[in-house]
Amino acid sequence: MLIKRISILNEFRCTGADCTFNCCRGWKVPIDHDMYMKYLNEKGFFGTLLRCSIEKKDELVAFRSTLHGCPFWGFDHLCTMQKKHGTEYMPAICIQFPRQLYNLAFFCEETLYLACPEAARLFLMRAFENKPFEFTVCEGHVSYKVNTTNDDREFLDYLLKSRDELVSVLKNGARFDSLAIVQYGRDAQNACLAQSPLPSPLEYTSKEQYQINIDKMNTLFYNGFYHPSLRTLSPFLYKLCKKYIRRFGLFRQTNSSVGNKKLTALKESLYEKIPGLDNLLNRYYEYYLYTDFLDTFEDYSFSKHLLYGIAKAHMLWLFLALYAEHKKQLSTDEIAKVIAVYERRAPQIEDALKQL
Ligand code: SF4
Repeated sequence: MLIKRISILNEFRCTGADCTFNCCRGWKVPIDHDMYMKYLNEKGFFGTLLRCSIEKKDELVAFRSTLHGCPFWGFDHLCTMQKKHGTEYMPAICIQFPRQLYNLAFFCEETLYLACPEAARLFLMRAFENKPFEFTVCEGHVSYKVNTTNDDREFLDYLLKSRDELVSVLKNGARFDSLAIVQYGRDAQNACLAQSPLPSPLEYTSKEQYQINIDKMNTLFYNGFYHPSLRTLSPFLYKLCKKYIRRFGLFRQTNSSVGNKKLTALKESLYEKIPGLDNLLNRYYEYYLYTDFLDTFEDYSFSKHLLYGIAKAHMLWLFLALYAEHKKQLSTDEIAKVIAVYERRAPQIEDALKQL
């Protein structure tokens, strides 16, 4: 199997107990079916402990969330299950994280989820130093399963080329939220439906921006992203959400123009703390293309995937700005932590996209 591995994955080392936002916190830790069966059949006190630590809601089996995070997260900030039993009892996701292993049958792509602060830090180093995200290619065996049902190699090759072209559009000065990207997504999707020739992102040149004003921001925020359960699930994020509600909740149905002014002022204040903010958001979108754009292979939803990345980058500056209030500057580690915390919740905005 041909394995393409993104450059920062080769540099990644888990920081363990020194991690600023350990992967045992801020979300539910899902348990795969094989491990769930193993837990159900485990004997003795450990078996009872395992079963008491699990909750099953709808189709999702996960460890119960406590105020502290995963119940197996120790006070020394390490996993007690790994320390006592090795990786043998750990869910697949815990062993794999933060690696994103994507098996497309013709080849595999391995990247890093930015939901890990160390992965986010490596991303930021590349972004700030203006270094490219390159893939190294090797051959080898992989143990992870094929993630797609599509076998249209020609379409996959088109997507790879299209992704490279989208990245080159960004490198040539287009903003991540340029209408050119949105228009390309719409036309490519329509061409798929009509089975007509697919366009190239290079054909689109609009310099206009896709605006996310206060109404759209509120749509993204209140339709999935914010939930009162964040109070226990992710207290750090909950505090930032509360700040947003205090500042912008009032403009939910009324007076959008005052809300928009306040939103603009908040972004302006962030430019003072992160002077390279626009470049950072463009690189964030570029990285998103590397990790998520090939999902289009499965559902042909160009618009959804391209728009999700735009919405995600917009909400990122919002949370960076909320965090940065009353601070003079943000360190790379602080930005990395906000990215990691935010990334754990960001997939929840996908549903709200339909309302934009
Ligand atoms: S979030 Fe990343 S650095 Fe932190 S403990 Fe998990 S894998 Fe390690």
